[in-house]
Amino acid sequence: MSYTFETIGVIHSPYREKFGIPRQPSLVNAARITLELLPPYDHPDMVRGLDAFSHVWISFVFHQTADRGWQPLVRPPRLGGNAKVGVFASRATHRPNPLGLSLVRLLRVDTQPKVVLTLEGADLLDGTPVLDIKPYIPFVEARADARGGFVDGPPPQLSVGWDAAARAQLTAPGLPADFALLVEQVLAQDPRPAYQDDPERIYGVALHQWNVRFRVEKNHAQVIEIQPLTP
Ligand code: SAM
Repeated sequence: MSYTFETIGVIHSPYREKFGIPRQPSLVNAARITLELLPPYDHPDMVRGLDAFSHVWISFVFHQTADRGWQPLVRPPRLGGNAKVGVFASRATHRPNPLGLSLVRLLRVDTQPKVVLTLEGADLLDGTPVLDIKPYIPFVEARADARGGFVDGPPPQLSVGWDAAARAQLTAPGLPADFALLVEQVLAQDPRPAYQDDPERIYGVALHQWNVRFRVEKNHAQVIEIQPLTP
């Protein structure tokens, strides 16, 4: 059997590329993300009562990787990128049905001029198509007795420093006010693939309209430069 679903909304997020997006929600709270409902689902009635909830489940499509297929076994970054687990024992993006599910904080609900939800802590690429929104119900879904398998707590964080030149660039016109905090929270997650450890290598993470270039040595990420993204 197959089913067809329609996009009910679209995500607007500072994450312009997969690289650098936190691997789960709630890890980077400085990212302000909005979910804009699309016609014919953009009527204020569709979200009436939603603002009484602090958190929502977002069901979405991993649209950027949806055509890349899947394997029965995957290598979660939390296991160092070597050990394999079944795709259904993981939150991997490459799945038989490329569907994602993220629990995020709901900061506000606007219904004018458009129906827009403001979210905190989402792990979603800019332009992600959303299939559904559901309120989080703590008494059912907050399970104190739950076991987390191989994911036994938050990942270790990197410290983050700034070269003087990069810090000076934070005053460039057009940079969002909380850009430095966003960069620090994103880099603290160590966006590098699990198997990469080259202190000379320069990485770039695309946030808003900017490419943030950085290096990582041991447990420290150092921001080198902020460049405008080329369109
Ligand atoms: N919390 C969700 C879940 O469990 O279904 C997502 C987990 S998945 C490991 C998170 C990663 O998905 C992010 O780090 C990012 O690389 C990737 N991602 C986010 N939005 C995407 C999209 N629209 N298309 C493809 N990959 C996406």
